[in-house]
Amino acid sequence: YVYGFGAGVVSDDPRARDKGITGGKGANLAEMSAIGLPVPPGFTITTEMCVRYLAEGANFSDPLRSSVANALGDIEKAVGKRFGDPADPLLVSVRSGARVSMPGMMDTVLNLGLNDITVQGLATISGDERFAWDSYRRFIQMYGDVVLGVDHSLFEEALEIAKENKGFSADLEMSSQDWRDLVQSYKDIVQEALGKPFPMDVTEQLWGAIAAVFGSWDTERARIYRRLNGISAQWGTAVNVQAMVFGNMGDTSATGVAFTRDPATGERQFYGEWLINAQGEDVVAGIRTPQYLTRKAREDAGATLPSMQEAMPHAYDELNRVFVLLENHYRDMQDIEFTVQQGKLWMLQTRTGKRTAKAALKIAVDMVEEGLITQGEAIMRIDPMALDQLLHPTLDPAAPRDVLTTGLPASPGAASGKVVFDADTAEQMAQRGQDVILVRVETSPEDIHGMHAAKGILTARGGMTSHAAVVARGMGRPCVSGASALSIDRKSGVALINGEALHEGEIITLDGANGQVMRGEVPTIEPEMAGEFASLMEWADAKRRMAVRANAETPQDCRKARQFGAQGIGLCRTEHMFFDDARISLVRQMILAEDEPTRRGALDRLLPEQRSDFHAIFSEMAGLPVTIRLLDPPLHEFLPASDAEFEELAQASGYGADHLKRRAGELHEANPMLGHRGCRLGITYPEIYEMQVRAIFEAATRVAEESGTAPLPEIMIPLVGTRRELQILKDLIDSTAETVFSEKKCRIAYLVGTMIELPRAALMAGQIAHEAAFFSFGTNDLTQTTLGVSRDDASRFLGPYVDKGIYPRDPFVSLDIEGVGQLVELAVERGRATRADIKLGICGEHGGDPASIAFCEEQGLDYVSASPYRVPIARLAAAQAAI
Ligand code: ADP
Ligand code: MG
Ligand code: MG
Repeated sequence: YVYGFGAGVVSDDPRARDKGITGGKGANLAEMSAIGLPVPPGFTITTEMCVRYLAEGANFSDPLRSSVANALGDIEKAVGKRFGDPADPLLVSVRSGARVSMPGMMDTVLNLGLNDITVQGLATISGDERFAWDSYRRFIQMYGDVVLGVDHSLFEEALEIAKENKGFSADLEMSSQDWRDLVQSYKDIVQEALGKPFPMDVTEQLWGAIAAVFGSWDTERARIYRRLNGISAQWGTAVNVQAMVFGNMGDTSATGVAFTRDPATGERQFYGEWLINAQGEDVVAGIRTPQYLTRKAREDAGATLPSMQEAMPHAYDELNRVFVLLENHYRDMQDIEFTVQQGKLWMLQTRTGKRTAKAALKIAVDMVEEGLITQGEAIMRIDPMALDQLLHPTLDPAAPRDVLTTGLPASPGAASGKVVFDADTAEQMAQRGQDVILVRVETSPEDIHGMHAAKGILTARGGMTSHAAVVARGMGRPCVSGASALSIDRKSGVALINGEALHEGEIITLDGANGQVMRGEVPTIEPEMAGEFASLMEWADAKRRMAVRANAETPQDCRKARQFGAQGIGLCRTEHMFFDDARISLVRQMILAEDEPTRRGALDRLLPEQRSDFHAIFSEMAGLPVTIRLLDPPLHEFLPASDAEFEELAQASGYGADHLKRRAGELHEANPMLGHRGCRLGITYPEIYEMQVRAIFEAATRVAEESGTAPLPEIMIPLVGTRRELQILKDLIDSTAETVFSEKKCRIAYLVGTMIELPRAALMAGQIAHEAAFFSFGTNDLTQTTLGVSRDDASRFLGPYVDKGIYPRDPFVSLDIEGVGQLVELAVERGRATRADIKLGICGEHGGDPASIAFCEEQGLDYVSASPYRVPIARLAAAQAAI
């Protein structure tokens, strides 16, 4: 039922140090006593008792009661004081502690065991009246608040009034009589609020606190947190009861918190704060300005209050020794809580310390060099997603911020620039060398050039997977989406944010890391590709099995991808090339053509443009595989929308505007995502794909001749559902390739394959594999088609769905392994049965998501493909999956 710790108690039962049994705090207290650190004696009631207590209708069993009584007896013996003794009382803290630290769990109660009698004993035995009454008032406040449920502000107000009446500004000015008076007010507050007096019976106090800890496992807040974080209700929380040590016993006592290394930079130096003559959470609560730990830190900060190193050299040396022991034992940076009672150091908590991405890298790599951990452990310790912080410029944390509103942190990084409300203006201003932020209600494929030109993107609507968010992440542009307080009046060139006007041309700053939108320019700091980053990536590359490619369609993105270590292009979306300003008119003429010769005329003029695109990409990728997806989106997406655009097109094409509008109307589809798109375009307008394929091979042969290195094109057909579709299009590709090869007198090796993005394609993978040399799982569409959820409209309900635990995470961000994953598994199996060496990859957004990457490793895929900025994340995640 309970496990003792401290005072030389070393339990050889492994359950005592098992976080699942004694909770994080309890297990580490046991662990610290086992390695000989000074831990005040105490005991832990197991998490199993919590589950049982709740199941049995909030009842304590007799065996539990007697175990607790025995364990309390052990503390009494170790300390040489008795619980409730009027002359020399043992005081304890009661602390909650689940397996993982969890908001909603009960706060710690200190100084339990005080009452009107024992407080006198404490005063006499310590020779310090003030200390005794200070401890008592703290106890009533904590117990009143967290156990009895009395509003804590009532206590805080009473303290404020007491200080005001005396003309005091700091707690330290309160005398022993002042605290004594306050204790009376506190007791009155409890009597008033509950209609009964504060409990004087110390045993009742103890069981009341234990019951409150157990009960806190079942609060609404704790339940919600568990559901959102996948924590089982069966875990329960442990209770730690521990002898008090006092940091508030005058100027030789203190309390503090510390990290064994700097959690912000990872530097190998102690980092922490402490306060003389203080107790518990005083340091964190900011009651007084905390003091520095080391002389150096104090001097660097120019602070006058002495550091611990200076004020308590003996305890400080002891703390140093503890730091070293802890790091050697846990082999990781620790976050600790300690108290000094009359010069003696006591350890109250240790846990693995939270740290920034930068610090995580430095600590992991340093620890490998120090021989504390292996390279594999270092790799496993870095959260791949945290690398994002290091790949984009970030705002100077020291700079002031004038926050206008906060939206969703859709794409990380920070950017400042002038507000513009449309893509064309963004592009024009960028060409003139100005930094701009594109501010839109939402974005569409037509805004791509403006998004590319902008330093950052802000939208009023859309979620984390909206067009703006996905494209911005792909481009590495910071983006804040769904800033619902924003409304835009394009005509007058003004946006309103919470009633404040924002004019076109005004400067704003976006923080893609937290979704903040700020007026004015906030200075940024450039990402530091520090040495540790490179070392860790090198180690990861040596461990991973899957290759990592990038989704990229411009030479700039290809270069970025290679800098980040991409081993090829996994998805080159050709339609992005069609949206280019100079070409869109040709594309529109091609689409609006009513007969084949006219269409071919437009295509002939597009050919050299496409060829030069591929030429640049192949040159950049120097012989690495490049998967090119032939045209995918429904044609109507390219069509003009405004009258002015139709007018412009009429001039360029020679057709009347009315004729063009009618034709555009004909192309309109009720449900374009399931409409005339993907390979269906290639089947009905083969000349479009033929032009693209010709452009690919003309470029490839040219690059092969120029550079002596043959490109490796992998031509990919989108939205295939049947073998026959692929067969028809593969014939078209092969014959076009042959024609080009004989014209150019040069052959290039290439593959033809397909995306698996329809459930039917996954089911028919065995058939389709007869025609396909590779499958690339297009998990964006596959998710959309399998779930029957439109990713462009899903933000309205997906948020609540995730909150309610219907999907554990946004299925467009992290693959729905349970559902969509089955289709992937099936397609892999059936594809391989037909063609054992079929090449398998993934190119959806999920290719950059660590959990999805782990699934790809399980399925034995050959590569994952992610946007350039996610390539380092994918490299690390793939290594973790392989370890
Ligand atoms: P949390 O989980 O919020 O950190 P803790 O249980 O660690 O809560 O308690 C908060 C603080 O209370 C500790 O950092 C420590 O300063 C103080 N504390 C807890 N137990 C004791 C004790 N037995 N003696 C002295 N101080 C204690
Ligand atoms: Mg703590
Ligand atoms: Mg698709």
